[in-house]
Amino acid sequence: MVSMTHCVQASVLWLVLGLNCPALTHAADPVKSLVIENCSVFDPESGMMLAGRTVLIRGDKIVSVTGHSEKLDVPAEATRIDGKGKFALPGLIDAHTHSVHVLDYARVTGDEVLPLYLAAGVTSIRSTGEEIVAATLVARWAMTHPASSPRVFTCSPLLDADPPIHRDIGRGITDPAQVPGILDELQRWNISTVKIYAGTGRPIGKAIIEEGHRRGLFITAHLGAYSAQHAVEDGIDCLEHIWSVYNYVIPSDVKREPGYRGRLDFSTTLCESLIADLVKKKTYVDPTLAVFRNMILLPDVPEIKDHPDHALVPKRLRDFWPVYLKRTGCPQGGALEDRRREFAKFQELTGKLYRAGVPLLAGTDSPEPQCPPGGSMHQELEMLVESGLPPAAALKAATMNNATALQQQEHLGSIAAGKLADILLLTANPLDDIRNTRKIEVVIRGGIVCQPAELLKLVPKE
Ligand SMILES: [Zn+2]
Repeated sequence: MVSMTHCVQASVLWLVLGLNCPALTHAADPVKSLVIENCSVFDPESGMMLAGRTVLIRGDKIVSVTGHSEKLDVPAEATRIDGKGKFALPGLIDAHTHSVHVLDYARVTGDEVLPLYLAAGVTSIRSTGEEIVAATLVARWAMTHPASSPRVFTCSPLLDADPPIHRDIGRGITDPAQVPGILDELQRWNISTVKIYAGTGRPIGKAIIEEGHRRGLFITAHLGAYSAQHAVEDGIDCLEHIWSVYNYVIPSDVKREPGYRGRLDFSTTLCESLIADLVKKKTYVDPTLAVFRNMILLPDVPEIKDHPDHALVPKRLRDFWPVYLKRTGCPQGGALEDRRREFAKFQELTGKLYRAGVPLLAGTDSPEPQCPPGGSMHQELEMLVESGLPPAAALKAATMNNATALQQQEHLGSIAAGKLADILLLTANPLDDIRNTRKIEVVIRGGIVCQPAELLKLVPKE
C-alpha cells in the first residue's frame, strides 16, 4: 500500500544516498530553451518520418517544428542537441498499466518502478483500475518528480457486480440508480478513465456509459457478463484486452473440446458484424498482447520466462511473479501447442481489426507477471507488428491513439507546436525495424532531458 509517509521516506533516502532528488534538482525551467537540430520527426497522423526537422522547446512545451528552408531564431542560451542521423518519436504512452495493483502484493510502491517506464521512453501511463487513494498518491508523486516519472493518468476502481471479482480494487454496484452517486464521488478524484469490469451486466453497464458520457468521461471495459455486441451498441468507448472481442465471436454451437480456442474461424458473420460495429462506432480496442503471451498463455516458455527486460525490475516484484502465476492458475489453455495456437489467434484477430479500420491502442497490463514496466511496451509494439500492423500504425497506437483515449490529444501524442515536449530520440529508424524503439539516446519529458542509464539507477535492485 502506498502512503505519503513512504513517499517522504523515499525522497529522504535519495538525499541520504547522495542521489539526485528530482523534485529538488530537476524541475523544468519555465524559460529555458532546448533545440534538437536536424533530426527526423515521426508524424503519427501521416505515418511518415519527416527528415531535416528542428524542434524548438521552451520550458515544458514545443514552440516549433521547422524544416531546412524555414528561418528559425534559436535563443543564444538554448541547449542544443545534434539530431543528425537521429529519429524523434512522440513519448510512448502505455494504455494499460497498474500503478498500485499487483505491486502492492509484492510490497513494491508505484514510485519505485516509475523510472523504469521513463527509461524505456514511456512518458505517460494510463492506470486501469486501482484502489483510488493509493493511485492518486502515485499520480501525485509522478507530478512532483517529472525528471524520474512518466505522467500518470488515473482510473476508477473496477466497477463490477457485488461482490466484485477483485475485492481489493473492485466496487460492487447492484442497481443502475447508484451510478450517478458513484461517478460524482469518483470525479472528485480527477480520474481520466472509468472502467467497467467482468461481473457487470448490461443494465448497469449501459447506465455507466450513459451517465459517464453526460459528464464527458471516457468509458472502457474488461467485458464478461456484458457482451461486446451490447457494449458497442450502447456506445462504450474502448474494450480492454483482445479477450473482450475474441470471447464474443465464438459461435454458440462450437464444440468446446481441448484446443478449440486455437482453431476459431474469424470469417463468420458473427465476427464480421462485430468488427463492422466497432468500425462504425469508432470503438477503441486495446489488445494487451503482452499480458496474454507473458502471463496467461506462455509464461513457461524459456525465452519469455527469462526475458532480459526482467533483470531491471526490483527483485521483490520478480520473485512475486511466479507466486502470482500460480495463484491465478496460469498458464491457462491446456497443452503448450494449444496455447501457442490460441495466442496466434489473438494476433490474427488483432491484425484483422487493424485492417478493418478499428482504432487500436497499445497497452501491456504491466506489472502483471512477466510484463515489466517500460520493457513490455517495446514487446507490445513488436507483437502488434507481428500481428500485421505496419510499424507506423503500431507507433500511432502507442502515441496519438493512446493520447486521444486519455482525452489529451491537444497536449500529447505528437511532436507539434504547442504540445508538451515529451519526446524520445532514437539512434535508428523504428519504421525500418520496430525493435529500434529500444535504441534510445535520450528521453525528454516535459522539456527535461533524461538519461535512461541514470533513471535506472533510481530503481531499487532488491
Ligand atoms: Zn489490467
